[in-house]
Amino acid sequence: MYPAPFDYSTPTTIDEAIHLLAEHGENAKVLAGGHSLLPLMKLRFAQPTHLVDLRRIPSLRGIRRDGTNLVIGAMTTYAELAASGDVRDAAPIIADAASQIGDPQVRNRGTIGGSLAHADPSADLPTVILALGATIIAASASGRRSIGADAFFRELFTTSLDANEILAEIRVPISTARSGSAYAKHPHPASRFALVGVAATLDLERMGDRVQRVRVAVTGFANTPLRAIRVEEALVGRIADADTIAVAAMELDASPDTPDDSSGYKVQLARVCADLALGRAAERAR
Ligand SMILES: Cc1cc2nc3c(=O)[nH]c(=O)nc-3n(C[C@H](O)[C@H](O)[C@H](O)COP(=O)(O)OP(=O)(O)OC[C@H]3O[C@@H](n4cnc5c(N)ncnc54)[C@H](O)[C@@H]3O)c2cc1C
Repeated sequence: MYPAPFDYSTPTTIDEAIHLLAEHGENAKVLAGGHSLLPLMKLRFAQPTHLVDLRRIPSLRGIRRDGTNLVIGAMTTYAELAASGDVRDAAPIIADAASQIGDPQVRNRGTIGGSLAHADPSADLPTVILALGATIIAASASGRRSIGADAFFRELFTTSLDANEILAEIRVPISTARSGSAYAKHPHPASRFALVGVAATLDLERMGDRVQRVRVAVTGFANTPLRAIRVEEALVGRIADADTIAVAAMELDASPDTPDDSSGYKVQLARVCADLALGRAAERAR
């Protein structure tokens, strides 16, 4: 099916893109990699009358270090994330997840900004960004604002971005502690989307192997990525050895939103993924 007719702009600066969004209001939509938006338009689930393509805005792309943060432009593709030395050094969990998304076509066009703004409940990077406690920077005609990952994902396919805002960049804190992070996923055999995926980040105390800080997030369980608070509580202050991690992973349970027909199976998968992700994160922290 063809999409409904629309106009198309290719701004070359963020300001220009923001003004186009302000001018066309709710009828305009931003286009990034197009892997989610174009299918929705072809099915007529989305019928924007104006598309603002962000691909020609160089300042929205790239990965850089800025003091204690890794700053990732919204238009950075999954393939670029997976190949980046800075990402592998500072937040290897992002490379873990990006390298497992879809197929090469999806990884070469899909963007981190598109994935976060789309907020698909089975997507990988929203969960990773939640586990990292990253900050999302939104730009609009009224300026820039920061949104913490915990407050960003509101509902199914809904974030706290306003219609006139562009997701400009993601700021990932670089931990100075002995920290590690990892992502483990059980993909759907056809689409490669996560049936379940678990993202884990942890800091070990400076001397010894006790867990000082840990964040665990799950995809595929609910309408938004979920923090696995009970798993985190079972780890803080304890030695991050294989037995403790295995016991903590068993604390992962279904959420009220997990569909009943699959919740038992998903819980089992998620516990295995949690065990793997936490074990790898602890190894990377040592
Ligand atoms: C075959 C296939 C397999 C896939 N497998 C996976 C998978 O394994 N894991 C996974 O996580 N995803 C998967 N995806 C989804 C893929 O990651 C999409 O690329 C992603 O959901 C959207 O990113 P995009 O850059 O293509 O955004 P688009 O489709 O261009 O946009 C998506 C939405 O976000 C908005 N948007 C985009 N960028 C911005 C921005 N900077 N600011 C504000 N709003 C913005 C758009 O207006 C639109 O509403 C798959 C997709 C396909 C087609």
